[in-house]
Parts: sequence; structure tokens; C-alpha cells
Amino acid sequence: MLLGPPGAGKGTQAQIIAGRLGVPAISTGDIFRANVSGETELGRQAKVYMDAGDLVPDEITVAMVKDRLAEPDAKAGFLLDGFPRTIAQAEQLRESLQELGHGLDSVLELVVDEDELVRRLSGRRMLVDGEWVQREDDKPETVRHRLGVYREQTAPLSGFYDSQGLLTRIHAIGTVDEVTERAMNALGQGGSAATRQSDGPTGQQSAG
Ligand code: ADP
Repeated sequence: MLLGPPGAGKGTQAQIIAGRLGVPAISTGDIFRANVSGETELGRQAKVYMDAGDLVPDEITVAMVKDRLAEPDAKAGFLLDGFPRTIAQAEQLRESLQELGHGLDSVLELVVDEDELVRRLSGRRMLVDGEWVQREDDKPETVRHRLGVYREQTAPLSGFYDSQGLLTRIHAIGTVDEVTERAMNALGQGGSAATRQSDGPTGQQSAG
């Protein structure tokens, strides 16, 4: 799984790393956003929290991830992006994975200082239907709130996974390729990107 504050580049790296490992990238933020655009009941429930920069309640989020992990493409492995985000979610994840006969192999924490995060998030635009738009939760006051939520609720996961011997911290400033190489090395899957077919991000990039 990938751990890191909003703007650390989890979404971008998740797509690339999952592609290289041949497993699905499971992003709770992306699943929520797809439900918001699809105007589903789940999307309606999640939108209020997302727009405010708050976490969607654990009951909603955990049930959604459990369903996703039970899908056939996750049988041979998966990369989690944006989940778990609280200690409670991490504990429920451990239980769900045990039931499925899985476990986490590795947790990579993308480390970026807060000034750089604010710069990245306020400048970020997403391509939606051919137009560049700013995510509602990338507005400056919401960005500050999300960073506070990260510090209080999600950052403790770093120690939680470190004490289980699963955590590697990765310096996540530099080019996208540089960060990918650091991540692949941490997973013991390093090697020169030049020898592989280019599998860079397609379409929109997310810095989440
Ligand atoms: P970022 O990492 O940039 O904040 P995400 O796309 O991961 O962006 O998440 C966007 C929003 O979706 C979060 O602010 C939160 O409201 C909701 N969300 C995503 N993942 C979770 C989660 N695991 N638990 C609760 N809420 C979540």
C-alpha cells in the first residue's frame, strides 16, 4: 500500500507501480469520485465529507474496500492507494485480509514537506471532459484542512506499520520517474526504466 499526505503523488505512483507489478491499483479517492460523478447513493453520502476535506466515515469506506478486494482481479495481489487512512481502517483491513487469506507485503510512505504539498495541490488541475478543472477539495482552505486531517488521523499509520516491519519511507520530491525508481527499489523490484517499455501515466495525473 501507499501511504502519504494529499499531494505526495500517491495516485500517480499507484498507477505506474501497479502497472509494473501487474496488479490493480485500488484508490478509495477514485472510487468515491466515480460514485460522485455517477450520482450513486454511495457518492451522495461521500460527497459531503469529501468537499469539506474530511474523511468519509469508516463504515462506508471499509465496506466499499471489502467489496473491491473480493473482486477476482484482486486475487493475485493489489496496490492500495488512500486506504487505510485511520488506525481503525488499518485494523479492519487486517481482519478482512485474514478472511481472504491475504496479508500486506509492504507499505511505502511517500515523504514530502508541507510547503511543497500546498504548492502542488493548489496548482493541480484535472482533465474532465476535455476541460481542466480544479477539484473542489483542492481549494486553499480545504487543502489546509486536509493536511491537518492527515497529520491527526493518518500520519499515525506510519508508526503502526513501522512497528510491524512493513514500512519503507521514500523521498517523494524529484521527477515522477525518480520517485517510481525509489519505490520499485524499496519493493525489491528495481532496475533501469530504460529497459522497460514506457508505462507512464496515461490521461489525467493525480497528485493525491
Ligand atoms: P488526497 O490523497 O489527495 O486527499 P484522495 O483522492 O485519496 O485524495 O481522497 C479524496 C477524499 O476522498 C478524501 O479527502 C476523503 O474525503 C475521501 N477518502 C478517500 N479515501 C478515504 C479513506 N480511506 N477514508 C475516508 N475517506 C477517504
